Amino acid sequence: MHCPFCSANDTKVIDSRLVADGHQVRRRRQCLACCERYTTFEIAELLMPRVIKTNGNREPFNDEKLRGGIQRALEKRPVNMDDIEKAINMIKSKIRGTGEREISSSLVGNLVMDALKELDKVAYIRFASVYHSFEDIRDFGDVIARLEK
Ligand SMILES: [Zn+2]
Repeated sequence: MHCPFCSANDTKVIDSRLVADGHQVRRRRQCLACCERYTTFEIAELLMPRVIKTNGNREPFNDEKLRGGIQRALEKRPVNMDDIEKAINMIKSKIRGTGEREISSSLVGNLVMDALKELDKVAYIRFASVYHSFEDIRDFGDVIARLEK
């Protein structure tokens, strides 16, 4: 970008760091012509739809929540971080792919279930038990029976 002080084209980056939990890059730049310094911020333009909760409330899509739920289900399971990241990215791109501005939280839950089913069956059952609030052992039996089909 042009220098905001003298409009010269050439600037160099003198410092670059991640901010906002890694969702932004902050760059310190210096103009090669007038030597003035300024800061730019860079963020990805990836709009996620809002999530409609079961009680009807809307909330912004929460990356941390998605990640947390998946990681809890996969705790101590033999699945590598790369595969987890890939699954999270796939879920997010499917959500974005709906083209909707609002999606139901159950859609998100179902996408997580589909991803876990591929990744790790134990994690899948763990997640299902929390997500569907299993109350007794028969609920587990039903899910396992469906998995084995
Ligand atoms: Zn300048």
